[in-house]
Amino acid sequence: MLSQQVHRTVMEINLSALAHNLRQYQQRLQPGTRLMAMVKAFGYGAGSAEVANVMQFHKVDYLAVAYADEGVDLRKAGIGLPILVLNVDEAAFDAIVEYNLEPELFSFPILQAFLRFLQHQGLQQYPVHIKLDTGMHRLGFEESDMPALAALLQQQQLLMIKSVFSHLASSEDPNDDSFTHLQARRFERCCDVLKDALRYPFIRHLSNSAAIFRLPELQYDMVRLGIGLYGVDSANEHQLSLQTVGTLTTTIAQLRHVKAGETVSYNRRGKITRDSRIATLRIGYADGYSRKLGYGRGKVWIKGQLVPVVGTVCMDMMMVDVTDVPDVTENDTVEIFGPHLPVQQVAAWSETIAYEILTGIGQRIKRVYF
Ligand code: PLP
Repeated sequence: MLSQQVHRTVMEINLSALAHNLRQYQQRLQPGTRLMAMVKAFGYGAGSAEVANVMQFHKVDYLAVAYADEGVDLRKAGIGLPILVLNVDEAAFDAIVEYNLEPELFSFPILQAFLRFLQHQGLQQYPVHIKLDTGMHRLGFEESDMPALAALLQQQQLLMIKSVFSHLASSEDPNDDSFTHLQARRFERCCDVLKDALRYPFIRHLSNSAAIFRLPELQYDMVRLGIGLYGVDSANEHQLSLQTVGTLTTTIAQLRHVKAGETVSYNRRGKITRDSRIATLRIGYADGYSRKLGYGRGKVWIKGQLVPVVGTVCMDMMMVDVTDVPDVTENDTVEIFGPHLPVQQVAAWSETIAYEILTGIGQRIKRVYF
């Protein structure tokens, strides 16, 4: 088995911080509101099975993944919680049923295809979730579809509607709450039509992390918690005491003196203007460290200081300027993001969001849990 010593770039995942963050949101739920934990995209880079285990231990109500194979992996890892699969296609139906996963049905073609599949398999009463498009314009039935959808659902017995839900387009933006409330009103009107048609209770859910905290009146029967669980306050309100879950560190492979006038890395774009000490790190763009962060745009944290990336980021390595950091030695640990350098800061330097950084960390980087 490969040991951590072979490749010393690691992503440490603090599972007690994950549980702490979960509690922060649980404490803000209205009584009786259920919680769905989003563990799609390899648990936002933290490891879906490990995150799901913590969620199961802390008795969340539901898990959600993007694709069926992510759900299959969770079942194979022994996760028994109900699992919603958000992005379903016909090729996934067999796996969905075999592994007891619950599909999001977002259009008439996919709903009818699943209905035919259930009939063909001779299955009874399968749990499904209806997705509504209330303004995100990504997936879902529109408000104008409600009469036809209600009629179709009334005519059949095989689909058991466990929940009806929609997704907010700008819940983290306090300047756009009027659009969020417009989405909520459309959502409620659609739910009312379906409630009259179905005559049995289903779970309604709309809120993601930012809305859970900012707009508690939109919690309905369940909320879907994603980025906040992983320690990122997407609404930037600083009122939640979230803890850092993922810390990405690497080590120095080599240190060298580079004279003023020399250049560093590809295409000689890292110009050295003073005699410098340059450290080569064991991380590159193949690990998810964006090339956009080259030429001093990105910084890393070493021995209490932030130091700039020099020249282009390479596939497996990159160079940083440690001239001003005393006592640096080869194999010293360097923080790429974590408690000293928030992932949101790295995201800002690369003109993206923390979600993209976290989910883009390469699979060859070992996840170490504590
Ligand atoms: N619900 C859906 C449908 C999503 O796609 C996502 C994330 O992209 C979430 C909930 C969770 O959002 P957040 O990570 O902002 O909490």
